Amino acid sequence: MISETPWGPLPGWIIYTLTVILGSCVGSFANVLIYRLPREESLVRPPSRCPACGRRIRPWENIPVLSWILLGGRCRGCHSRISWLYPAVELGSAGLAVLAVSAWGFTYAGFAYGMLFIALLALIIIDLEHWLLPFAITVPIAIIGLIGSIAFAMRPLADSLLGMAVGFAIFMLMMIGGKALFKREAMGGGDVVFGIMAGVYLGWKLTIFMIFAASLLGTLAALPLALTGRKISGRSLPFGPFLAVAMIISLYFGDTVIRWYIGLIGG
Ligand SMILES: [Zn+2]
Repeated sequence: MISETPWGPLPGWIIYTLTVILGSCVGSFANVLIYRLPREESLVRPPSRCPACGRRIRPWENIPVLSWILLGGRCRGCHSRISWLYPAVELGSAGLAVLAVSAWGFTYAGFAYGMLFIALLALIIIDLEHWLLPFAITVPIAIIGLIGSIAFAMRPLADSLLGMAVGFAIFMLMMIGGKALFKREAMGGGDVVFGIMAGVYLGWKLTIFMIFAASLLGTLAALPLALTGRKISGRSLPFGPFLAVAMIISLYFGDTVIRWYIGLIGG
C-alpha cells in the first residue's frame, strides 16, 4: 500500500520493518531527552547509566524494548527496577512512526511528521512532570517542518510562515495578558515557541483552531478538579499536554471541523 519511497517502490513489510526499527531508536533518544533535558544534563556525556547504582549500560542492554524485556525490567548490576516508561516510550514511538509513514509514505513528510509525533509524546511527558516545553525539542522540530515546506512542498510555505506568526502572536498576547490579569505567569516562553512550531505544520487557520481546542480540553480537564473543591487559580495543570493533543486533533480533523462550522454559520 505504501509505494512512495525516495528509491522507488519497496514491499510494504520492508518499509514498515524499517519504520519500526527507526521509530524505536528515535524513541530511545527521546528517553534520553525526557530524562536529561529538564535536569540540564549533557545529552552525550556521560553515557547511559543506571540511575540507582551508576552502572554503565552496555550497548546490547540498550536495544529498544527488547533489552528491557530480556533483563526483566531490572538493572543487571543492582537489580533495581527500570521504569516501564522507557520501553513504553520506545514502543509508542515505533507506533507513531508507523502512523506517520502510513499517512505520508516513506518520504521526507513521513519523516517530519514521525519526528513531530514522537516529539509531542516527549513534550507531554516532560511537561507533566516538570512544567517545561524545552526549546531543544520545539526548535529542531520547527526547523524540520520549515525545511519540508521550503524544499519538499510539504505545505505551502506562505501558510507555514503565517502559521508561525499567528502562533507567536497569540501566545505572546496570552503571556502578556495572563501576566496583567492574574499577576502570574500564565504562559511561558516554552508555550510561545510551541505555538511557532505548531504554526509551521498547521498553517494559520489550524493554529487558531489548535489553541481553541487546547483551551477547551484544558477547561474540561480542570472541571473535575474545580468541582471536587481543589483550588483553581491561574494554572493547576501544565498546558503543554493539551496543546500536544490539540495539535494532533487539528492535523487530522481540524479542516473538517472548520468546514462544518463555516457551513453552519454561513447557511
Ligand atoms: Zn543498577
